[in-house]
Amino acid sequence: MTELLVTGGRVLQPDLTVERADVLVSQDSGDIVAVDDPGTLDGDDELDAENSLVIPGLVNAHTHVAMTMLRGLADDKPLGAWLREDVWPVEAELTPEDIRAGAELGLVEMIRSGTTSLSDMYFEVEEIAEAVDQAGMRAVLGFTAVTVGKDEEGARADLQESLDVAERLDGAADGRVRTTFQPHSLTTVGEEYFREFVPEALSADRSLHFHANETRDEVTPIVDEHGVRPLAYAADLGLLDGDAYIAHGVHVDDSEIDLLAETGTGVAHCPASNMKLASGMAPVQDMLDAGITVGIGTDGAASNNDLDMFDEMRDAAMLGKLAADDASAVDAGTVVEMATANGADLLGFDSGRIEADANADLAVIDLDAPHLTPAHDLVSHLAYAVRGSDVRHTVCDGEVLMRDRSVEVFDEAAVRERAAERAEALVERAES
Ligand SMILES: [Zn+2]
Repeated sequence: MTELLVTGGRVLQPDLTVERADVLVSQDSGDIVAVDDPGTLDGDDELDAENSLVIPGLVNAHTHVAMTMLRGLADDKPLGAWLREDVWPVEAELTPEDIRAGAELGLVEMIRSGTTSLSDMYFEVEEIAEAVDQAGMRAVLGFTAVTVGKDEEGARADLQESLDVAERLDGAADGRVRTTFQPHSLTTVGEEYFREFVPEALSADRSLHFHANETRDEVTPIVDEHGVRPLAYAADLGLLDGDAYIAHGVHVDDSEIDLLAETGTGVAHCPASNMKLASGMAPVQDMLDAGITVGIGTDGAASNNDLDMFDEMRDAAMLGKLAADDASAVDAGTVVEMATANGADLLGFDSGRIEADANADLAVIDLDAPHLTPAHDLVSHLAYAVRGSDVRHTVCDGEVLMRDRSVEVFDEAAVRERAAERAEALVERAES
């Protein structure tokens, strides 16, 4: 039995208090063995956490990790024009090798900033699963089906592929990869295809993840065509019947908040993407008050433009206050829970809490920095002052992914070089 001791630090407890403690994790089971007073536990290997805060590994509840390849390519446009004019033409040129390179780059960025789990939507999902396996991280993956602009055969093939990928990859990477059935959104998949494939997904007991109510332009056509709000339409299609979480949920009215709460449907809130694309302000405090599980996601790097979940926590707190017109809304402790325990609950992982028997997924933050001094309240620091670059060590499933800011699971320089070269060639192909 190999055990790793994270020693000398302060530990964020599940109730958000902070205690001086050591954390012992089993590298065989991948679980936390014990959290106890300093000096009372022993391990075969140690991670130094002096002057540091040990927190659960962060959970990125909605992203498109390989979109790092498009980072900074096109900014400052609304969602529809940005997708049609910039994103989709370049994505059409992506090869499996490009997606692998982009995924590895995104995962290195996540490891460096303390994220250990992600929920991803994309294609060439085998490549992403292999990158996650090598990264040692946890992920919920899936193939994202779109039917607009496709003939019937192509549309049905896309949805079938989403079902097949979910079955094929569930449990990959020694169980660290789980899957979801992924219709892209309520407006990019035709009703007849939902009617045919959602019951299949439900009878196979697949979890569902899709974009919903991201912009006003996604709400109006559904109200015009079906005479009901988008999430009522989703409920009618059976999309909220199983284990489901939506991405965004920006333009939801009270009846839709009730519907999410009644059906136990979760929300992956993406504040930076919603601000950058001027999509709107999600009523996060209202959703939390209704008992909805809300996690935080970065969305793809092209609409953010980084994958740093500390940035995202701060954005969620700030935007949540504006949306509620109330400075006490979406407070520091709330965003920390959203980025840890709530996110893990959405993804279905027993992570996001530092306690015995939970998954040994954690990040160790260096507190020895001017922007983290003084230390009146470390939960406040997590929400408002810590940066991804303050993370010293990252651990997932008991394995050390980054030690003293050195990524151990990838050759970071090679990953960056490969992604940069491939991204340049990709854009040249798309423009020719
Ligand atoms: Zn998205």
